[in-house]
Amino acid sequence: FIFESKLPATLPPRRDQIALIDAATDQRVTYGELVHRIHRFAAGVRYKLGLNKWEVVGVFSPNQVDYPTVVFGALKAGCTVTLANPTYTADELAYQLTDAGAKILITCAPLLPVATAAAAKAGIAADKIFIFGREQVQGKKTIYDIFSCEYLAPIQFTKEELLNKPAYLCYSSGTTGRSKGVETTHYNMVANVAQLDAYYVHSNQYRPNDVWTGVLPFYHIYGLNLSLHTCFYAGISLVVFQKFDLVAYLEALQKYRVTYTHIVPPIILGLAKHPIVDKYDLSSLRMILSGAAPLSGDVSRAASARLKCSVLQGYGMTESSPVTHVGVEGKTPDGAIGVLVPNVEARLVDPDTGEDCAVNQPGELWVRGPNIMKGYHNNDEATRNTIDAEGWLHTGDIAYADKNGFFFIVDRLKELIKYKGFQVPPAELEGYLLTHPAIADAAVISRPDESAGELPRAYVVLKPGAKATEQEVQKFIEGKVAQHKRLRGGVAFVDEIPKAASGKILRRVLRDMDKEAMK
Ligand code: ATP
Ligand code: MG
Repeated sequence: FIFESKLPATLPPRRDQIALIDAATDQRVTYGELVHRIHRFAAGVRYKLGLNKWEVVGVFSPNQVDYPTVVFGALKAGCTVTLANPTYTADELAYQLTDAGAKILITCAPLLPVATAAAAKAGIAADKIFIFGREQVQGKKTIYDIFSCEYLAPIQFTKEELLNKPAYLCYSSGTTGRSKGVETTHYNMVANVAQLDAYYVHSNQYRPNDVWTGVLPFYHIYGLNLSLHTCFYAGISLVVFQKFDLVAYLEALQKYRVTYTHIVPPIILGLAKHPIVDKYDLSSLRMILSGAAPLSGDVSRAASARLKCSVLQGYGMTESSPVTHVGVEGKTPDGAIGVLVPNVEARLVDPDTGEDCAVNQPGELWVRGPNIMKGYHNNDEATRNTIDAEGWLHTGDIAYADKNGFFFIVDRLKELIKYKGFQVPPAELEGYLLTHPAIADAAVISRPDESAGELPRAYVVLKPGAKATEQEVQKFIEGKVAQHKRLRGGVAFVDEIPKAASGKILRRVLRDMDKEAMK
């Protein structure tokens, strides 16, 4: 009989433990094999490709089992890594590759046309493009062609470098404008992993035989940190999904007895509402963590009741590597994003007076800690406008905190509508609109107005077969909010609200639509 430790595994995992499972093919990679591949890739980057320390490796692909090999291999070779959204057009990708100064590009066969066009614009030679997989496609070498068996002595980093040089150039989601390059240092990333690790240990959320999901895109800081860095740091097995598909996701949750899943609100909506969910045995799942966008209380409660598991939120930004807040099981009030992770300080500051806010009084959230980025890449002015002289990162989000230290997000500062000088948070109106029995989805934006400055205007998607008029919706809101928050800019009915895959409402797209309509 072999006794096994029942303590959570935050020490290096055993070599025979499963690190990765491909949900589509059931292919498995042990920690021993993963480490081996990382070494081989790193040696190849150094000796076959001749890349030097801090030269930039670009990755443009949906999630792959070999994605972590490339990311950690490039870091091990001393390179900086920039990860791009696989839904990008050639122009968007070219912008990121040029801005980041990428020297090589790792992509996958289906994305070769976009990757090739973008690489040409960004000055990356065609023979510096490699693909995931074992088979060459259209003469493109694979990442396995980069693998080398040469011994690579560990790259030495000075303390100065660890604190100041970018391990990653992460690009923000581009919700409010053009995506911004964020310099995330090794120190930032390690700090946030340690902060999360402390949280998971403290809340007893690492358990033996844990299985997590890699369904968030790895290119974004949320998936990069939680699904790759923190998951592997803790020696947990990760089920990898190329893309989100509800049925494939449910099948994998059941098949691999997934215990913990990091997801975004649109997926939780599916878990709460889709009839197919009842067909699966999801009894292994004990926790859903939601981040990146607001999660409605109704959806959260419905998913929790249906799956008999906890639902918590976390909050963060690309600029904070990313997590600064996370919920506490059994203690988090409805709608809260949670408490601060260890070693992060926060202030809530009245944007008009610069004074600190009282309990329950909303203000701009400022955060400070070892996980705060070095700055924006190639943009000192934006850095100066975001991180002040005392090191506070001004998040641009309006939040309040209750007396127990639980934080609630109200809205983005930039999105607040100013009606005759009064502030109207669109997210609050959206919350009320979603409680209307005929409304399936809603978004509120500002419409410029000569006398009042801005008027709140709603875009509404009705439920199938449901009916409502503009006046009815306006009356409904009138009954719920202060006078200045009424929908004076009117209500428009649309088929769909423009959103990012994370569930973030793209208000800038609606504002453009509105401008067009007013012409
Ligand atoms: P950009 O800065 O390029 O306009 P972005 O801010 O959406 O895009 P990210 O860094 O990916 O880019 O996202 C961070 C933002 O996501 C936060 O500032 C906040 O507005 C939002 N966010 C994150 N978690 C939550 C949450 N739990 N609830 C509400 N909003 C959240
Ligand atoms: Mg942002």
